[in-house]
Amino acid sequence: MPLSSQDVLKAFDRIRVFQRGEQRAVHKPLLILMALARIAQGAPRMVRFDEIDAPFKQLLAEFGPSSAPSSRHYPFWHLATDGLWQLDGPASLLNRPAGATPNLGELRQGQVAGGFSPEVDAALRHDPALRAQLAHQLLDAHFPETLHGDILGALGLDLSTPTDDDNPAAGTTTRTQARRDPRFRERVLRAYEYRCCVCGFDLRIGNVTAGLEAAHIKWFQAKGPDIEANGLALCALHHKVFDLGAFTILPDTYSLVFSQHAVAGEASRHMLMGFHGAGIILPQSKDYYPKAEFLKWHEGQVFKKPGRSLA
Ligand SMILES: [Zn+2]
Repeated sequence: MPLSSQDVLKAFDRIRVFQRGEQRAVHKPLLILMALARIAQGAPRMVRFDEIDAPFKQLLAEFGPSSAPSSRHYPFWHLATDGLWQLDGPASLLNRPAGATPNLGELRQGQVAGGFSPEVDAALRHDPALRAQLAHQLLDAHFPETLHGDILGALGLDLSTPTDDDNPAAGTTTRTQARRDPRFRERVLRAYEYRCCVCGFDLRIGNVTAGLEAAHIKWFQAKGPDIEANGLALCALHHKVFDLGAFTILPDTYSLVFSQHAVAGEASRHMLMGFHGAGIILPQSKDYYPKAEFLKWHEGQVFKKPGRSLA
């Protein structure tokens, strides 16, 4: 029986994303997005693990926490438990209990293939608007907006054709954005006196602040609250690279620590690593200082470890 769009979206909304305490769950969402991109490109329903291993590893390294790539085979196997995904391979592997995840070598040697179930594949393959909706649903639930374009770009997934305007069922009100506190931005920018807390950038065009954004330290998608102590005023550049984990902020000294993975040439060095070891420009009241629990979450779940040494 063909699945309706609503059935498909609901089913994906129920996937059990791996979460242990405060750990970010990126594996399943990124694997589903990659599978959506394959459908958009007209690729067959089933794909062998070794065919997507390298690009998926790259995707996790870029958009996941530092530890993510080493467990990249987990979603390929465990997504099957949610009933939306099927596996094909040697019976000796497939008949294992769900918890006995094969290792990378077993998946490769067994030429294990995976893909959406035929019903789900058919629904998604024939409906670009549904693919776009599902992609937005996953991005909204798991990643800050600063990264949505980058993730889609890395996957080569173009969602521009079916817009929400063309498809009223897409209902923009269902997007995560709508649940945010609209005053968060204003409160955070005011706390930091309308300047980037890294570089001091404070452009105004007329009376309007330009290029300045309120970043969540602990992501909204990880249930980070809309309060000043979980916010930073950052220029667009520093916001983007903060969300990508190029730098983090130490909870005790509020010093900036850049990642060893962040490398910049002469022209951009002063805008980035030039701030390594410096303190942020603190908010005007102690009540607004970034809270240690949120900074620790960012350091553990977003920052690309290891950090450069603070000599
Ligand atoms: Zn800045």
